[in-house]
Amino acid sequence: MIEADVAVVGGGPAGIAAATVAAESGARVVLLDEGATLGGQIWRRDVLAAPKGSAAAWLDRLAASGAEVLSGWSVFDAEPRRLVGFRGIVRFHQVVIATGARERFLPFPGWTLPGVTGLGGLQAMVKSGCDVSDRRIVVGGSGPLAIAVAASLAERGAHVALVAEQASWVQIRPFLFAILREPRKFMQGLDYALALHPGVVRFGTWVVGAEGRDRVEAVRVTDGRRTWRERCDLLAVGYGLVPQTELAALLGCRVEEAVWVDREQRTTASGVFAAGEPTGIGGVECALIEGQIAGLAAVGREVDHLETERFRGLRFKDVLKTAFELRNELRHVPRPETIVCRCEDVRLVDLEPFVDRRTAKLVTRCGMGPCQGRVCGDSLEFLKKWGPNEVRPPLMPTSVGDLAR
Ligand SMILES: Cc1cc2nc3c(=O)[nH]c(=O)nc-3n(C[C@H](O)[C@H](O)[C@H](O)COP(=O)(O)OP(=O)(O)OC[C@H]3O[C@@H](n4cnc5c(N)ncnc54)[C@H](O)[C@@H]3O)c2cc1C
Repeated sequence: MIEADVAVVGGGPAGIAAATVAAESGARVVLLDEGATLGGQIWRRDVLAAPKGSAAAWLDRLAASGAEVLSGWSVFDAEPRRLVGFRGIVRFHQVVIATGARERFLPFPGWTLPGVTGLGGLQAMVKSGCDVSDRRIVVGGSGPLAIAVAASLAERGAHVALVAEQASWVQIRPFLFAILREPRKFMQGLDYALALHPGVVRFGTWVVGAEGRDRVEAVRVTDGRRTWRERCDLLAVGYGLVPQTELAALLGCRVEEAVWVDREQRTTASGVFAAGEPTGIGGVECALIEGQIAGLAAVGREVDHLETERFRGLRFKDVLKTAFELRNELRHVPRPETIVCRCEDVRLVDLEPFVDRRTAKLVTRCGMGPCQGRVCGDSLEFLKKWGPNEVRPPLMPTSVGDLAR
């Protein structure tokens, strides 16, 4: 049993910032993450590679803070003042939930072909050493991650043939104005744009199917007026990010799409704080600010000096949400025979008799596989407007041995 004043779940930017500032205040802090290395999604790297830039600065500060880091430590159950993970139990006075977000996938004909991945999935493979040089790649979906991934693929020698962004140019204009007001984000956006060939990014364009015999060979895309075929070796598609709120829900926090928090990142559950993407999608700078606020508030420190930056982050979250709202046409892309739950091979037509996720799950096993509905559940929320199921432990597939321990 591990005892802590503050336990932080999630070793991405938000969790690293929270654990660092809390430990610097003299509290006993443990930081738990399921990954082999800290950094979360954006600072993910090959285990042998050294961190760079602001990741390196934050990781150095964390190491000097005295916080105890437990990597490879997945939390699969929780109750007030107690976290349960594969490696044991942590008892805490305060907890910061910084479990990040996951990608939203929407099914389309051919999406289960080898060579079709999520945006983050392909990016994670590339960051772990997968060679994409000279591969012809189409990137599709929605949100800033699509451009970020396309740029990083191009920098690694891939030929990015097309970036199909479903949002129209008019819809994303407020997002571009917001970027213009933020020098760091603007410079990052400029870097991405320079990495890509002019004309590669097409707004108001979405994927309607992937084709190939044994693996993806081409993708069909449309702009609503015209549909065409684009040859490719790899196709990466993702429709924005979904906050990972399951652990917060298990601890009794109010969740409405994202975890509700006040100006100190306090949730509605006593002793539970949340920071970063579980509280809404806002990017790395927002995650770092919210993490610092949560860490300071958890040890009873003042957070007023971070209020302005927090507000800025909240404004950016709002802009992101509306700029990349998913178009209705995407609901009509999957065919009746298209697989929706790929863990259990459940097709869209199999779900037709049902009106909610729970009944569909009981009868078809949709959402009962290894991903526990994290893929099909998020897509059905959009396709059929089915709300989430009640959250129950274990939060992830867990062996009987771990449960018994
Ligand atoms: C797949 C993906 C790829 C992304 N790529 C980029 C990019 O290239 N550029 C960019 O600007 N932004 C990217 N983002 C967005 C970026 O993740 C956020 O802007 C920022 O990193 C959020 O930080 P965070 O700390 O809130 O979450 P994250 O960085 O996601 O960190 C959350 C951490 O929590 C851990 N965790 C979750 N649940 C548990 C649990 N039950 N037990 C233990 N640990 C747990 C995870 O392992 C993870 O390390 C990406 C997001 C995703 C989902």
